[in-house]
Amino acid sequence: MFNKGSELLDLCNKENKKISDIVIEKEMKLSNSSLEEVIGIMKETFKVMEKSATEALNKEVRSVSGLTGGNAKKVEEYRNSRKTLSGVFINSAMSKALSTSEVNASMGKVCAAPTAGASGILPSAILSAKEKLESDDDTTIRGLFVAAGIGEIVAKNATVSGAEGGCQAECGVAAAMAAAGIVEMAGGTPQMSLDAAGFALINIMGLVCDPIAGLVEYPCSLRNASGVVNALISADMAMAEVESLVPFDEVVEALYKVGKALPESLRETALGGIAATPTGKELSRRLFS
Ligand code: SF4
Repeated sequence: MFNKGSELLDLCNKENKKISDIVIEKEMKLSNSSLEEVIGIMKETFKVMEKSATEALNKEVRSVSGLTGGNAKKVEEYRNSRKTLSGVFINSAMSKALSTSEVNASMGKVCAAPTAGASGILPSAILSAKEKLESDDDTTIRGLFVAAGIGEIVAKNATVSGAEGGCQAECGVAAAMAAAGIVEMAGGTPQMSLDAAGFALINIMGLVCDPIAGLVEYPCSLRNASGVVNALISADMAMAEVESLVPFDEVVEALYKVGKALPESLRETALGGIAATPTGKELSRRLFS
């Protein structure tokens, strides 16, 4: 059992196991389930992720409020039809993240990992890595277990709620979970997975939660697109053997302290940041009048 990143690493090192092995074993024990059952549930979860990440790529999926929708399709068409600045791979990852975000805003089915607002990041990162690395199903599902382990550590020691810790706790943690997962998929060590997760959190530390009209749509969807890129580059830095100066657990602690220091206006109240711009306020007024 583990509660901290350091404990997870110790278990991996002592037992010469991957992070996914430890997380799977823990899940089997806690849920009193067999390996097949635990893997089966994660496979079902992955199916939901796959569907949401591709659903809005070829058709416009709009939210009830009309604030968001159609951007996944735009980015997908853009990456297919023109020379892009950040390349086909990154644009494809962004379109998948936007897709899930738009499905969520339209009240469709998503897997909240760690939250519905940040639900676009993990599916896109895992699917993108699967395609790029040509990973088999077992490796892909294991990536999700690694992500789950990281999410659990942050939830236990800090927060995954935008209302408590800002968007760093939602899109940041989603990127951290994804980065750690795809590092294992790429053959990285447990330490590299934790470093990648730490990088992803450090990269966005302080990110506020400021949804227009209090709806989980804008800027949320944009942050899902940037969140998956954060996950991919954090994983690449770790795979390049860039080491984190600050251990993962200390980064998580810092994230929590920063979240607590954020004023209430920047913690999902729609009273600050983008929500409080003249345009944000006008959109909110129109929606609620
Ligand atoms: S801005 Fe707030 S509501 Fe939107 S994804 Fe981030 S934490 Fe969630």
